[in-house]
Amino acid sequence: MTDKILPKAVAVIGAGTMGNGIAQVFAHNGVQTHLIDVDPAGLERGVANIHRSLSKFVEKGKLSAEDAEATKARLHASTEMDPLDGVDLCVEAITENLEIKTRVFDAADSRLPKDAILASNTSSISITVLGAKTKRADRVIGMHFMNPVPLMKLVEVIRGNDTSDATCQKVVGWAESLGKIPVMANDYPGFVANRILLPMINEAAFALMEGVAEREAIDEIMKLGMNHPMGPLTLADFIGLDVCVSILDVLKDGLGDDKYRACPLMRRLVAAGHLGRKTGKGFYDYSK
Ligand code: NAD
Repeated sequence: MTDKILPKAVAVIGAGTMGNGIAQVFAHNGVQTHLIDVDPAGLERGVANIHRSLSKFVEKGKLSAEDAEATKARLHASTEMDPLDGVDLCVEAITENLEIKTRVFDAADSRLPKDAILASNTSSISITVLGAKTKRADRVIGMHFMNPVPLMKLVEVIRGNDTSDATCQKVVGWAESLGKIPVMANDYPGFVANRILLPMINEAAFALMEGVAEREAIDEIMKLGMNHPMGPLTLADFIGLDVCVSILDVLKDGLGDDKYRACPLMRRLVAAGHLGRKTGKGFYDYSK
C-alpha cells in the first residue's frame, strides 16, 4: 500500500454542518486538526457532532474504539485564529456570505505560513474573487466536500483563475489520501454540483408553493422516478434552506439569469428561521 500524502496539520474554520465533518475526516486520517469557530456554542456542537459520528462508526464496527480515541486526540478546538500559524492547509467552511468569507480570508492569509494552501468549501462563491483578496491567489482553491462529509466520496476541486497546477495537484492528492474522489471543475457560479442541483431543489419548492403536489408526493416522485436516494425537499432541509437561498442568489447574480431566482416560499421559511434539519424545522418538522 502506498503511503498517504497528507498535510501534517490542518485548520478548518467553521464548525457547522460541513466544518465538523471535514475536521473529522482529516483527524481520522492522522492529521493534526484544528477546528475553529467564532461561536463557542457552535464549536462545542461541532465537536459533539464529531464524537457522536465516531461513536456511530464504532457501533457499526467500521472503526475501532482505539481509532476513535486517537481521532479525538488529534482534534483541537479553538475560538481563535492562532492555530493557523502552523498548518499546511486551511479549509474555510463558514457561512455562505461573500463579505464574511472575505474577512476570514483576509485574516487567514495574513496568519498562514507562506506556502500554506487556503481552500474554501464554498458551494458557489467565486474562488477567483476570494483568491484575489489574498496575496496567495496561486494557493487558493475550492475544496467542495459533500454532506455528510464522512460518508460522501466526492470532493469537487475548483480551480480559480490564478490557482497554480502545483496547488491543484497537491489538493487532488490530499483528497485521494482522505479516501475521497476529487473531480476538477472550473470557477463559474455554482461550479458543477450546485449549478445543476439547486435549480432542481428550487423547482421542487415552486411546485410545492403552487400546489402541484404535497411535499411528500414531490419527494416520493423524485425518489422513485429518478432513483434519487432522497427527494429534493428533504435534501434542501438537509443542506439548510439558508444555504440553498444563498447559492441561488449567487447563481442569479453570477449568471445574470432570472431562472435562478429563489422560490419565495423558501425565502419565507428562511425569514421565519426554519432553516431545515439544523433548526428542527424546514419543509418538514424534525422537532419530534
Ligand atoms: P453552518 O451554518 O452549518 O456553519 C457555519 C459555521 O461558521 C457556524 O458554526 C458559524 O458560527 C461559523 N462562522 C461564521 N462566521 C465565522 C467566522 N468569521 N469565523 C469562524 N467561524 C465562523 O454552514 P454549513 O452548512 O456548514 O456551510 C459552510 C460552508 O460550506 C458554506 O460555504 C456552504 O455553502 C458550504 N457547503 C454547505 C453544504 C451543506 O450541505 N450544508 C454542502 C457543501 C458546501
